[in-house]
Amino acid sequence: MNSALPPDRLLLGPGPSPTAPSVLLALARPTLGHLDPWLLARMDEIRAGLREVFRAPRGTALALSSTGTSGIELVVHHLVERGDRVLVGVSGYFGARLAEIARRAGADVVAVEGPWGRALDPDALRKAAGGKPCKLVALVHGETSTGVLQDPRPYRALADELGALLVLDCVTTLGTAELEFDAWGIDAAWSCSQKGLACVSGLAPVCFSERALAAIKARKQPVQSFYLDLALLLEYWGGARAYHHTASSNLLVALHEALRLVLEEGLPARWKRHADNARVLWSGAAERGLELLVPEAERLPALSTLKVPRGVDDAKVRKTLLERYDVEIGGGLGPLKGQVWRIGLMGHGSSERNARLALGALALAMAEAKG
Ligand code: PLP
Repeated sequence: MNSALPPDRLLLGPGPSPTAPSVLLALARPTLGHLDPWLLARMDEIRAGLREVFRAPRGTALALSSTGTSGIELVVHHLVERGDRVLVGVSGYFGARLAEIARRAGADVVAVEGPWGRALDPDALRKAAGGKPCKLVALVHGETSTGVLQDPRPYRALADELGALLVLDCVTTLGTAELEFDAWGIDAAWSCSQKGLACVSGLAPVCFSERALAAIKARKQPVQSFYLDLALLLEYWGGARAYHHTASSNLLVALHEALRLVLEEGLPARWKRHADNARVLWSGAAERGLELLVPEAERLPALSTLKVPRGVDDAKVRKTLLERYDVEIGGGLGPLKGQVWRIGLMGHGSSERNARLALGALALAMAEAKG
């Protein structure tokens, strides 16, 4: 077998984002047992770090040994029982995934669809709910398929009117955009390691409010999944430290370092860095005559959607960027396939240099794709 060390790509797509150098160093440290006392102490620090990053001092947080999607599965399968009514905002690929996971959990799903590329209107969800009680109001904070930031704040009142818990997909927003789990009254949220936290993929931070934990305790049926059973996971992450699965010590050590970097920078500074560098990208795109899909007030700082100009071959441009310049950007998903480019400036990858580099490389690749 030949050596297969990967090429050094610049990751400016929807994720994974570039791994911070010290996180890569942390990954390369010797492997520890999953019950090593040194690791268990670091896991306590990870839980505290996650509470800080979610801004959930009263929350219960841990990281699942799996990707962001498992966070959706864990939250939905714990907070929903067969027949429960769930209101989901769907204006992109990941809203649709959330609705599908709730359907598979046996929920009676009211999916409220909005245009891809716009934030949802809370009144549209209120109207669709028709005042009937719901178990969950579920939203995507940062819709990575469209580049829209959905403000969850107006939905707390709606959730209260419906007697519902408010749950939020923070896969693209954790560490990249303002998020206040406790202050905004979020009941459960999930994220990933490979975007705003600048770690590699493989871990899914999740966070629960006290109200959500009480709802889980009050379930009539036990949770079906063994691997994603929060009670068993909490026994490993705290409590008796009982074996549940063989967590990757290397990944946990890497997440610890990633969280340390986030907290060293400070969340408000990190949010501002993402917003500032996104604006460099947006104004540079406008100067080059490239249109953005989303109105400025609704844009996600970590991920921007640029419309592919008429007559330009989207796939050819992305291929040139990757093969000639080692730059990865994303293409459109679902109805936006071939319509938009998705440029991510996330975590360690959010810099003025990368914003300008993305625009320059895109211009070169567009010119080459024409010729
Ligand atoms: N939710 C959103 C908003 C995402 O952007 C993604 C992945 O990009 C996911 C969920 C799924 O996360 P993962 O691919 O880590 O399972």
